[in-house]
Amino acid sequence: VSPVAEPQERAFEAGLRPGTLAEFIGQQKVREQLMIMLEGARARARPPDHVLLSGPPGLGKTSLAMIIAREMAVPLRMTSGPAVERAGDLVAILTALAPGEVLFLDEIHRIARPAEELLYAAMEDFRVDVVLGKGPGATAIPLDIAPFTLVGATTRSGLLTGPLRDRFGFTAHMDFYDTDELIDVLVRSAALLGVHITGDGAAEVAGRSRGTPRIANRLLRRVRDYAEVRADGVVTREVAQAALRVYDVDALGLDRLDRAVLEALVRRFNGGPVGLATLAVAVGEEPDTVEEVAEPFLVRAGLLARTPRGRIATPAAFTHLGLDPVEGLLG
Ligand code: ATP
Repeated sequence: VSPVAEPQERAFEAGLRPGTLAEFIGQQKVREQLMIMLEGARARARPPDHVLLSGPPGLGKTSLAMIIAREMAVPLRMTSGPAVERAGDLVAILTALAPGEVLFLDEIHRIARPAEELLYAAMEDFRVDVVLGKGPGATAIPLDIAPFTLVGATTRSGLLTGPLRDRFGFTAHMDFYDTDELIDVLVRSAALLGVHITGDGAAEVAGRSRGTPRIANRLLRRVRDYAEVRADGVVTREVAQAALRVYDVDALGLDRLDRAVLEALVRRFNGGPVGLATLAVAVGEEPDTVEEVAEPFLVRAGLLARTPRGRIATPAAFTHLGLDPVEGLLG
């Protein structure tokens, strides 16, 4: 149960996306701030400020970008940092924007440097400098573009350069959802999918959803299948437990990578401290993936701590893996 979306999941997710801020569950603060900002923009008949959304995958950044466009009744254009390889790619996108359009730039921290520099003037003055020619004879021709709203999303706001970050009028950090919020997400999704789920059933699934709506929706699909095939179609607590056991989802909802990181930390490094790079090699992943995808939840769940000397497993991590914290450390 990775928090990152799989390609075949996109269509399923599209059907469950909240369409308005009012429908968007949780993230109370962000929602309220956005609501005020959008209302102000509507009153002034101007595009809202540029918005930067940061936080782990699957928490609703794409959904919020879509909602902003929809609430402003403007078109939405979606692209991502890695897709913008050259400044020219970005010029093509920016010059084709309709007035007021929302441009969603996912993984904005991975945008190529020349393209990023082009964004500065585009965001600030709605202008792009098109460079013609090369070397000393090159000339820059300023070109006006339509006023637009950039919605940038990133799992790593710390990697954004200062100048880029400063150009966002609104920055929101999205955090993991608590169990009650995930229950609301599940009840809403179940209604949309025509799945019968009891309150207990929803609570059971919510508790194993890793604080992430995407995972909650994904687990709902799995327990629905199980309920239809092995039970009478109703997702009760017992049905949810049995289904999630079949799919190897543990009581905390840890996924393969989470577990690999914990196992390595506890079993190979005796609970640490160990550096990020070493830990990443031990689980065969990029340090970025370990840091952005696995660690935020492990920290939040109280299983891993980041210290100046490296990553350490907490006693709860040993217990979760069925080891005694003291014996485990010694052995
Ligand atoms: P990524 O960056 O990995 O694409 P994301 O943060 O953009 O992830 P979304 O794609 O917006 O996440 O959301 C994933 C799924 O979770 C969607 O199906 C969406 O319907 C659901 N979801 C996310 N947030 C909420 C919410 N607040 N209320 C209801 N459903 C939500």
